[in-house]
Amino acid sequence: MLQERDEILETTIKDVVNKVKTRQIKATDLTTYFIERIKNIDSKINSVITIEKEKSLKRAEEIEFIVNNNKDLDKFPLLGVPLIIKDNISTKDITTTAASKILSNYKPTFNATVITKLIDAGAIIIGKANMDEFAMGSSNENSAFGPVKNPWNLKKVPGGSSGGPAASVASRLCIGSLGSDTGGSIRQPAALCGIVGLKPTYGLVSRFGLIAFGSSLDQIGPMTKNVEDCAEILEVIAGYDNADSTSSKIEIPKYSKEINKEIKGMKIGIIENLFGEGVEEGVNTSVNESISILKDLGATVSKTRIPLLEQAVSIYYLIAPSEASSNLARYDGFKYGFSNKSSKTIWETIEFTRGEGFGDEVKRRILIGTYALSSGYYDAYYKKAQQVRTLLTESILNEFKKYDVLISPTSPCVAFDLKSKVDNPLAMYLNDICTIPANIAGIPAISIPCNFSDNLPVGLQIMGPHFSESKIMNVGNSIQKISNWHKQKPKI
Ligand code: GLN
Repeated sequence: MLQERDEILETTIKDVVNKVKTRQIKATDLTTYFIERIKNIDSKINSVITIEKEKSLKRAEEIEFIVNNNKDLDKFPLLGVPLIIKDNISTKDITTTAASKILSNYKPTFNATVITKLIDAGAIIIGKANMDEFAMGSSNENSAFGPVKNPWNLKKVPGGSSGGPAASVASRLCIGSLGSDTGGSIRQPAALCGIVGLKPTYGLVSRFGLIAFGSSLDQIGPMTKNVEDCAEILEVIAGYDNADSTSSKIEIPKYSKEINKEIKGMKIGIIENLFGEGVEEGVNTSVNESISILKDLGATVSKTRIPLLEQAVSIYYLIAPSEASSNLARYDGFKYGFSNKSSKTIWETIEFTRGEGFGDEVKRRILIGTYALSSGYYDAYYKKAQQVRTLLTESILNEFKKYDVLISPTSPCVAFDLKSKVDNPLAMYLNDICTIPANIAGIPAISIPCNFSDNLPVGLQIMGPHFSESKIMNVGNSIQKISNWHKQKPKI
């Protein structure tokens, strides 16, 4: 019985696919097993908004048919792999809420490009994950479906905004997940839940079907237990899409092969300005341990200070809300989801729908963004932020003339107490300092587990120049080959 074969929870995607291919596991059993796990465990964590039993079992039957009819199975790199997807990624006929009341009954009529690619690769979407409303937040407390709890300690936040994907992967409720990252929403929850999360280069993965937050910053990326799985999923979802005008036409490397090179001689920069004030001692110590491993592996490691890095949070919290205020204008009570029925005029419908449908943080962002874009303040705020964005991007890219990759903590702190920062937006925003720079510059960045502090996971961030996913995953994988941090799992 599969129920007794919990070892499946710890194997890599490659192993799972192999077992499905060779008929050691039936896709329907695997799907049922994970759906039962969600039902048994998730009441404590609240990481899943929608469980998709019927459709996923139907898909699992199709996968079995493919296996039994011996089609060319190498065409399905994710054959039978159960995934949970962040609920701001559109799934055809499956409720997609962005964790907002305003979209609580919204069923897209189409799949996001990443979903089409996953399904074509043989994956099975078993559920949709909780998140901060419209991906705005760093603690997953801004969800209309209630907060997500950190599986390592149920009194702590899982990070955000992809807290649901991170907590569900950490609790082994699925084999892997997709999140979205506008200012750190894949990497920070990955760090706080002890898993791997990768934000790809802007333009590597199609945004078609991702519910927009900050369009010049948003990227979809994998959230997995280890770097190998991350590479497997990225290989499937990356690539040009003519439905996304910002999609890049580049050759997609075989990431799963590229991540096994030696890193001897690689030049690694430690970002000194991300180790200073406000970074917890336990985080510093853990990250330094990984740095020692890199030195042992023969990398050349030295410290660097990136000019203007301190401006990243201010730039982001003007540009992201500005883009959000424009993107969220479409939720007017006529086109999608929730609509206030008691209103008498069109204007009342818009006002009441948005008033009731959006949560506090989303309203705060719309207000900030509308203000920054208003004719009187545009030059002082939005335009200035764009100018400084250009300067900071140049400053970051300059570092890659000296270094192959850059390293920092993913988050200045480990998972914090639920409710401890919700009433202090500034403290919450400042928490994003380590992750935001990669979104500003559009470069790829990965977070991998690196030890524990106060019995909570710490994340190490590795950033590289545009389209250097192979390289940053290679560095992460080299650490994982000789460490055990990513193999630890929460006891729930
Ligand atoms: N925490 C950041 C914010 O609230 C980042 C969110 C994200 O990456 N989606 O905007």
